Amino acid sequence: MSPIDPAAEARKLPRADRLLQAAERAGLVARLGHEPVMEAVRGELEARRAAVLAGGACPRPEEIEAALLARLSAGALGALRRAINATGVVIHTNLGRAPLSAATAAAMAAAAEGYSTLEFDVERGERGDRYHHAAGALCRLTGAEDAVAVNNGAAAVLLSLAALSGARPSGQPAPDGTPEVIVSRGQLVEIGGGFRIPDVLRRSGAALTEVGTTNRTYAADVEEAITPRTRAVLSVHRSNFRLDGFVTEPTLGELVALARRRDLWVVDDLGSGALLPTAPHGLAPEPTVMERVRDGADLVCFSGDKLLGGPQAGLMVGRAAAVALVKRHPLLRALRLDKVALAGLGATLAHYERGEALRELPIWRAIARPLAELEATARRWRERVVAVAPGAELRRGESAVGGGTLPGETLPTWLLALPSADPAALLAALRRAPAPVVARIADGAVVLDPRTVLDGEEGALLEALEKALGG
Ligand SMILES: *Cc1c(COP(=O)(O)O)cnc(C)c1O
Repeated sequence: MSPIDPAAEARKLPRADRLLQAAERAGLVARLGHEPVMEAVRGELEARRAAVLAGGACPRPEEIEAALLARLSAGALGALRRAINATGVVIHTNLGRAPLSAATAAAMAAAAEGYSTLEFDVERGERGDRYHHAAGALCRLTGAEDAVAVNNGAAAVLLSLAALSGARPSGQPAPDGTPEVIVSRGQLVEIGGGFRIPDVLRRSGAALTEVGTTNRTYAADVEEAITPRTRAVLSVHRSNFRLDGFVTEPTLGELVALARRRDLWVVDDLGSGALLPTAPHGLAPEPTVMERVRDGADLVCFSGDKLLGGPQAGLMVGRAAAVALVKRHPLLRALRLDKVALAGLGATLAHYERGEALRELPIWRAIARPLAELEATARRWRERVVAVAPGAELRRGESAVGGGTLPGETLPTWLLALPSADPAALLAALRRAPAPVVARIADGAVVLDPRTVLDGEEGALLEALEKALGG
C-alpha cells in the first residue's frame, strides 16, 4: 500500500502568490512582465500537481520556487535552449545550422568534461600539434595534401587570403606595395550576416581587383588584370543565389592553369563543402570538396556546420605549401578552433570514413528521408491532434536545404497543416513551449514539416501542439 495520499500531497503545493512574490523579489517580474511570469507560475504548478496526482511526493516549496526562478532567469537572459525545428529547412541558420550525430555530441561532451590530448603527443609524451587531429581525416576524405581547421568559414576565407597574399607560390620575392587579389564581379557577393567578399578581402590586407561583369567573366579578363603585385585569384561559390541566363565564368581548372603559369595562388571559397553528392536526392549537384581539390585549388575553404553536418568550424584543405603558410600566419592563433569543436569535427569526419555519413548525420538523414516516411509521420501527428484541431489535414509541401546552400532547390515533403483563424497566434503559442517549436505559415494555416523534427523530439512536439491548440 502506498503511504502517499495524492490529494493530500497536492494540498502541500505552494500557492501561486507565494511563487509570484519570489519572482518579484528576484526582479523577474520587472524584467519579464507580470503576465508572462504568472503564466510560468501557473504552468509550474500545473505540472507539479499532475506529477503529484500521478503518485509522486510533493517537493518542498523552496525546491519548486528555485526551479521556477531558474527557468524564468534562463528566459530573461535569453539563454540558448533546445528548440524543435518544424520548418523543414534542414540547415536553419537561426536555429543553429547542423544538428550533430550522437557520436559527435558524445565526443564533444567527453572533450568538454575532461582533460584531453589537444596539444599532447601520447606516443612521445611531449607537446603535440592541435592542428593534426582533423587533418588526417580531411586529407584522406578530400584528397588534399594538408588541412587546417579554424573557427568558421568566414575565418577560413580571411586567413587564407591574409596568408597567401604574403608570398608567391614559387617563393620568388614579391614587389613592395599592397598585394592584389582578383575576383570576378559575378562573385563579389554577400554571404549573409554581413559577410561581404570585398570587405573581407580588405581586412585580409589585400586589395581587390574586380574583373568581368556581373554575368560574364572570361579567363582572359583575369589574365589582363594581373600586375606584378597580384598574388592570388579568389573563386567564390554563389551559395545563396543563382545567376541564370547569359552567364559565363572560367572553370576552376582554367583559373588554376592560368595561376600556375603566372605564379599566383588560387583560393576557392566553396561555402557549404559537401563531401557527399546532392544529386541522388533530387537536388542540383553541389560541387564537392574532392572535385575542387582535384581541380587544383591551393586552398578550398568550407564550413563545418553546413553540408558537412558537423560542429561550427572553417576548414581549409589543399596543397601543402599553402597550408604551411596558413599555419605560420599570426591570425591562426586568433581564429583557431576550440577543443570541443575539434573533438566533434573528428567524430563527424569518422562517419564519412566509415561510409555511414548518410545514415548517422542528422542533416543527411533529413535530406534523404523517404516521402512515404514523411507522410506516415505527418499522419501520425494528425491522428494525435485531430481531437483538438478537427481541421488538421495533410498537405504536400516543399522542404529546403537552407543555410545559404542550394538556393531555390527544394525537396518534396508532407506537412501537417493546422488551419487557424489566427495562425500567427498559434505560431507564437508553439514558440512558448519549453522547447520552442518553430513552424511556419502557409495559405492561412500553421504548417509543420516532419523532415527536420529529430528522433526523440516527437513527444515534446505533440505535447506543445496539444497545449497550443487546446489553450
Ligand atoms: C557560408 C559561407 C561562408 C561563411 O561560412 P561560415 O561558416 O558561416 O562562417 C563563406 N563563403 C561562402 C561561399 C559561404 O557559403
